[in-house]
Amino acid sequence: MNHDHKEAFCLMTYECELCGHRESIWNSRDGVTPFAMGCRRPGCDGIANHVEWEKDSYLPDHLPEPGDLLWIDMPDSLRMPLARRRVAQFVGTPYYPPEDVMEETLTNIAASYREGEPWLIRWLGGEDTLAEMTSLAARLREALPAAFVSEWLGEMVGSPLAVLRIVTRAFKDGRFIEAPQEQEES
Ligand SMILES: [Zn+2]
Repeated sequence: MNHDHKEAFCLMTYECELCGHRESIWNSRDGVTPFAMGCRRPGCDGIANHVEWEKDSYLPDHLPEPGDLLWIDMPDSLRMPLARRRVAQFVGTPYYPPEDVMEETLTNIAASYREGEPWLIRWLGGEDTLAEMTSLAARLREALPAAFVSEWLGEMVGSPLAVLRIVTRAFKDGRFIEAPQEQEES
């Protein structure tokens, strides 16, 4: 395969050097990924490093599951929000830009992010496609009694993405999905 980056489309492992927390992250594009990042375990200030490089799996056709972590190109639409956040960290210090140069400062920071900067997202399932719903239904059928599934899938139509999140969380935690609340007669 001809790629510019050896980590293109690789599923890689990050491990915190402080608490040992590990995460798998798939690189969704032919782009750079960080060697290290802040540990994502709540409350941990450690550094998570890309480890076991030799075990990186090259998966160009990988299908992310809802809940998975992915590297993408930083969207241009986030440049200004990130610049504002950077500046906000200096409120109350001598480094906070005065009003007359604020606009210019924000613009400069926004322009300083490189094209294709790696950006971490959690895959929420994307569009509410029939394929996704079908695959979800299949997973539910394996885990739940048939009568319950048909009733539950009927309820899912209202907000499939919200339900995908709940289902994903339930599956990832290895817990059984709790029955939905009884609907009030109206
Ligand atoms: Zn950690």
